[in-house]
Amino acid sequence: MIDCHIHISLDGIDFKKARELSKTEEIEKIIRKRFKEYKKIGIYVLKDGGDDLEVSCIARKIAGEEKIIFKSPVKAVYKHGMYGKFLGSPVRDLDDFKNLFHYLKSKDMDHLKIVLSGLVDFEKYINHTEIFFNKKELKEIVNISKDNGIPVMVHVNSSDGIDMAIECGVDTIEHGYFIKDREIYKMAERDIIWIPTLSPLGNLMKGDNRFKSFFNVIERVYREHLYSVALAYAMGVKMAVGSDSGCYKVEHVQGTLDEVNHLIKSGIRKEDVITMAIKNGIKACNLNDNEIGYVYRNNKRCL
Ligand SMILES: [Zn+2]
Repeated sequence: MIDCHIHISLDGIDFKKARELSKTEEIEKIIRKRFKEYKKIGIYVLKDGGDDLEVSCIARKIAGEEKIIFKSPVKAVYKHGMYGKFLGSPVRDLDDFKNLFHYLKSKDMDHLKIVLSGLVDFEKYINHTEIFFNKKELKEIVNISKDNGIPVMVHVNSSDGIDMAIECGVDTIEHGYFIKDREIYKMAERDIIWIPTLSPLGNLMKGDNRFKSFFNVIERVYREHLYSVALAYAMGVKMAVGSDSGCYKVEHVQGTLDEVNHLIKSGIRKEDVITMAIKNGIKACNLNDNEIGYVYRNNKRCL
């Protein structure tokens, strides 16, 4: 199995505590334990969405020792003053981006993570979120990354933002809440991988006191997303399993299993979810031939 969207520095339980631990040496022990648990259920490849403390770089080193393939963006890139502070570094303009990109490359980034939009609003149903970069900026960012052979992973919700990301030629669309049929067709045509991350909302529906009063909105958005996933599957969109583990109520290891179950809920058969997790996960994580061989050798052992 491959999980294409996690945050190794967070724990899915207590954001503040996890952030504090991330600043201490204790985090190395915690991550090593997490990796051992991932391996126990047959997950050998993880792709991280980034953190500002660069814990994902420490994790990548530990992953090598634990024989886990771990892909890190070093830090995500977000628009100055907007959502994304704990995920990475801010940029005001393209010059800022170029400087940051140079730094990320020096740290051996595996992919570029861009925070293009905000989060889903749980308080009232609004089917869009703010978009932080304009099309010209995003196009230039994608071009710079591609010219350097670095794939682009984009956090985006809202139909317009998703359309912009597709038009700019990104490699993977992460989340994609409030997607419309138009973008689903475009993703199918252009072979873009969609990581729908159903777990952050789906897991809240299992019952959570903190978000109890927002339950109706969460349920509506989650149901709409399930419908979009079903349509995307029918249209032949390449989707992969990405749990957003580390996010509230999505704990490492269990989160990946939760994501598989949410995808099954959309109507996709379990065998097909596993097949797409591996096949599309390999592409989403940009694995090389040796790494692909490692995935299939471990997959055989699991079977
Ligand atoms: Zn994430």
